Amino acid sequence: MSSITELATERVKQLTPYLSARRIGGKGHNFLNANEAPKSATFLMKSITLNRYPECQPPEVIEAYADYSGVAEENILVSRGSDESIGLLVRTFCEPGRDAILISTPTYGMYSISADTAGVKTVDVPPADDFQPDVEAIRNTVENNPEKIKVIFICSPNNPTGNVVDDDKLVQILDFTRGRCLVVVDEAYIEFCPEKSKVKLMKDYDHLVITRTLSKAFALAGIRCGFTLADQEVIKLMLKVIDPYPIADPVAQIAVQALSTHGIAIMKERVAELIERRDRFVEEVRKLDYVQEVFYENANYILIRFRDGEGLFKACADKGIILRDFHTKTRLQNCVRVTIGSEEEMNEVLSVFHSIKQ
Ligand SMILES: *Cc1c(COP(=O)(O)O)cnc(C)c1O
Repeated sequence: MSSITELATERVKQLTPYLSARRIGGKGHNFLNANEAPKSATFLMKSITLNRYPECQPPEVIEAYADYSGVAEENILVSRGSDESIGLLVRTFCEPGRDAILISTPTYGMYSISADTAGVKTVDVPPADDFQPDVEAIRNTVENNPEKIKVIFICSPNNPTGNVVDDDKLVQILDFTRGRCLVVVDEAYIEFCPEKSKVKLMKDYDHLVITRTLSKAFALAGIRCGFTLADQEVIKLMLKVIDPYPIADPVAQIAVQALSTHGIAIMKERVAELIERRDRFVEEVRKLDYVQEVFYENANYILIRFRDGEGLFKACADKGIILRDFHTKTRLQNCVRVTIGSEEEMNEVLSVFHSIKQ
């Protein structure tokens, strides 16, 4: 080990960096591995205030998100993507070495990465057969786990399976966690099924936290802008931990335009188009005899179980189509996740699928 590496903390030496779709990369031209929108909208930018530090919480962004979400301004925090929000929640509520977060895999990878980075343990309570949370097992863990569970992460729609948590399951969890831990519902894809948002439960449960992002339906993964919707006390605590200038001025300018009446109309058109394309894609995929299972359709991606998932992933990669392979993940043997891209991109995927024999 080099002397510089020796200087790092034990915790950092043990870490493995998050393997994002971008880092895994792959040589290709058709990238359907990160649930991004197929193309960017255009925005205007003015440069007259770039000499000044931005506000920590640009008021015009908070106001725009309040209008869009129907949540009051004092219950909203804006951050560098919702990934930053996940990290802030862990660092604000979990004592390193003593507390833990609870997740149900398969789910989004950042929860445990954020916990690892903060020296906080991750406890995994596998979901039921239908990928709904196993409420009794979660209750048992919250009551008996040696490290105190402080934050439960529930991804809805879940990445990568696509299912949405049932209201009654979530309510049961909220009922026995009151005063004990936060329940965070990650709604990164909620614009694809807005009627399934859990915002309506916030008024009854002050420990329910919802995270959102402009990265998916708003097609703005490149600007890094996400939101936390929570009780004012939660927001105030997170504001103690967040960096002083997390939102760059150009990011704020673009976010305000994306959240304008016009911006929201464009987002809704994009969502309608992607949903229609997804449904047609799924219909075609179901006809293939080597497709064994198509998971839940609630977002801009679809998880599919093939006879030979790894083989299919490689056959696509050879043609420059980069999908996301989940074959090493528990319960997801032979599963590949496909982001819904443009019409041309999806036609190319289908033509490769049609040429494969399994
Ligand atoms: C993409 C994604 C995010 C990350 O959102 P950013 O705002 O880009 O950080 C969060 N949660 C889930 C489930 C995601 O798939």
